[in-house]
Amino acid sequence: MTVKAGIVAIDGQAAAGKTAVGRELARRLGCPFLDTGIMYRAITWLALRESVRIDDASGLGKLACGCSMRLTDAEGGAILLNDIQLGPELRSAQVDEHVSLVARVTGVRRALVRQQRDIATQSAQDLGGIVMVGRDIGTVVLPDADLKVFMVAAPEVRARRRYDELVSQGQGADYQQILANAQARDKIDSERDDSPLAQASEALVIDTSDLTIDQVVERVLEGFASGKSGAGL
Ligand code: C5P
Repeated sequence: MTVKAGIVAIDGQAAAGKTAVGRELARRLGCPFLDTGIMYRAITWLALRESVRIDDASGLGKLACGCSMRLTDAEGGAILLNDIQLGPELRSAQVDEHVSLVARVTGVRRALVRQQRDIATQSAQDLGGIVMVGRDIGTVVLPDADLKVFMVAAPEVRARRRYDELVSQGQGADYQQILANAQARDKIDSERDDSPLAQASEALVIDTSDLTIDQVVERVLEGFASGKSGAGL
């Protein structure tokens, strides 16, 4: 299916397959891909390194405002943070454990959302669109997106996928720990005051539990082609 690029917002639960789907979708649409989770992970990594306490909202906000962030990988897996190249360390168990607490902080969100909107504007002007994935993209960051998608999957399926991904990269992984972390993050992300994880009312909802990445991408492209939103698939 051939579809012209546009602005696509993909939100959903932890490890629901957003990144893999978003990346492939961007490739097919010929537009950039931005995984906003990596930005929250980068601030968390920096806070842990600089010993900024996770309950110090003002310190975390200053950290987010004062750092320079440049995405260095079109696939969305790496970032240059204050001239430090970061990749796999952003997916460490320690970052997994703290990232949702950092992402609750309004000062952090404000700094990152500003950058995300700038990137979207630039990409739309230069390349006709962007695929952006996260938790608040359709609701807060890009409320005028051409298509909004909300992805869900059974917790055990999500944990298994993340486990397999880490093992295939040669990293150590503990299935139970991954499952507990994904559920804990979903709870914090859904219950926070500022920009909680929520489905935009007009979003195309896709349960990816029994679908391959390509099947999900096809459904999103169908939704995009028909200008469809609001229905569950
Ligand atoms: O997508 P990923 O699992 O890498 O995101 C890590 C964390 O970053 C999420 O659990 C959430 O706390 C935060 N996040 C967010 N808003 C986004 C993207 C990620 O709050 N747009």
